[in-house]
Amino acid sequence: MPPDSARPEGSRAWVIGAGLAGLSAAVRLAGLGWSVTLFEAAGQPGGRCRSFHDSALDRLIDNGNHLLLSGNRSAMALLREIGAPDPLIEVSPARLPFVDLESGERWTLRPNRGPLPWWVCAPGRRVPETRLADYAAALKLRRAGNRTVADLFDGPPGSARRRLYERFWEPMAVAVLNTEAAAGAARLLWPVMAEILLRGEAAFRPCIAQTGLSESFADPAVKWLEARGGRFLPGVRVRAVSFDDTGVSALAAGGETVAVAPGEPVVSAVPPAACAGLFPDIGTPTEYRPIVNLHYVVGDGFALPGGLPLLGLIGGTAQWLFLRGDVLSVTISAGVAEAALPHDRLAGTVWQEICRATGAANPGASASAPPCRVITEKRATIAQTPAQDRLRPGARTRRRNLYLAGDWTDTGLPATIEGAIRSGETAARAIGRPPAAG
Ligand SMILES: Cc1cc2nc3c(=O)[nH]c(=O)nc-3n(C[C@H](O)[C@H](O)[C@H](O)COP(=O)(O)OP(=O)(O)OC[C@H]3O[C@@H](n4cnc5c(N)ncnc54)[C@H](O)[C@@H]3O)c2cc1C
Repeated sequence: MPPDSARPEGSRAWVIGAGLAGLSAAVRLAGLGWSVTLFEAAGQPGGRCRSFHDSALDRLIDNGNHLLLSGNRSAMALLREIGAPDPLIEVSPARLPFVDLESGERWTLRPNRGPLPWWVCAPGRRVPETRLADYAAALKLRRAGNRTVADLFDGPPGSARRRLYERFWEPMAVAVLNTEAAAGAARLLWPVMAEILLRGEAAFRPCIAQTGLSESFADPAVKWLEARGGRFLPGVRVRAVSFDDTGVSALAAGGETVAVAPGEPVVSAVPPAACAGLFPDIGTPTEYRPIVNLHYVVGDGFALPGGLPLLGLIGGTAQWLFLRGDVLSVTISAGVAEAALPHDRLAGTVWQEICRATGAANPGASASAPPCRVITEKRATIAQTPAQDRLRPGARTRRRNLYLAGDWTDTGLPATIEGAIRSGETAARAIGRPPAAG
């Protein structure tokens, strides 16, 4: 670790973990005037949201394709703040296309401009064969308490209510909560309604990283931080923490021990299990769900219907397709069963679904799967059930200078990019300015 002699004691802030939560906290703290040191155990920043060159495919791919929406205000504010040169592809005007693999039906959600969501009244803009009253049920999310998404929205077989559940609430719950709808905490969908769906077309535009997640988020954030005198230390794991009577007094990081002066804040932005290891007295969620991603090199002529970069699939194994250049990426959230399958078998099954979903757009697609990389993130997010949701701690701890960030902390939001970035903002706001910056 490089020496830190130039930083006056009392103005330093320490952030553990350079995922999006830690990066967000570091950027905000540096903006408030703190001299930030950011420790990261891995060799690169970004955590669960990163890109890398895959030598087998010879392509830059993301660990998993990540979908944002234009109404993700904290994510968009961070991108603006760090001046990301290579931000996001945005589908504008907002459209979310779907295909039902069993019936072959296709539809596209097309929210209207302005805050009044009249698009749910227009049959051509909403899910086919659904009723307006079933959309109005969304207001029940505000007082969902401990109920699951299925508790609130599932209906009898064959009913319009069940159709909306299978074609809207269930896929949305699985994508947003990374938890099956029968177990997912409905209350966590309310902020998505309030901040996105009820704010009209301009908030609902799907966005994906232009080149890669690291190029959009992590790399420019580190560059921004370093340009303001912050230190990013990759490959430096914080192994242990020492405490005095009221707070953190030292960090054992890499091979050294760093003294933390009184008044200097420490933000832990590591996942729940790592947090529990460093701070055994802090309760954390204990259950996780996996996400499986498949990346196929499909060749330049490949297209998704309507020329859009994404497509939602209903009734299959694959849930979302994302096309970036000649790489088609597939997301399977809450993919507990899929995570256990042999990769070549899964790649073959999913490729058959892709051919059915996109056949008309790609008449030349071969029946055998093209080269494919399967990436399984076993602990992609916490299980967002009502019981696990109750275990999420807030940003402040009982130790005076220790703060928590991470998508799994109690942001009121689901464990997503937006939640992670907001958690970093919240921790920085709780800390405030360094004494010298008044
Ligand atoms: C495959 C996949 C697909 C996803 N898709 C979406 C999506 O479409 N949309 C969306 O919004 N969200 C999505 N997510 C969720 C999103 O990636 C996460 O919510 C977000 O990246 C979490 O950020 P974080 O900073 O809280 O945690 P992390 O990214 O886990 O960061 C924690 C960091 O702490 C580091 N660390 C751990 N222990 C130590 C230590 N002792 N010392 C130093 N460093 C340490 C880790 O190496 C890591 O870099 C997806 C996640 C996955 C895995």
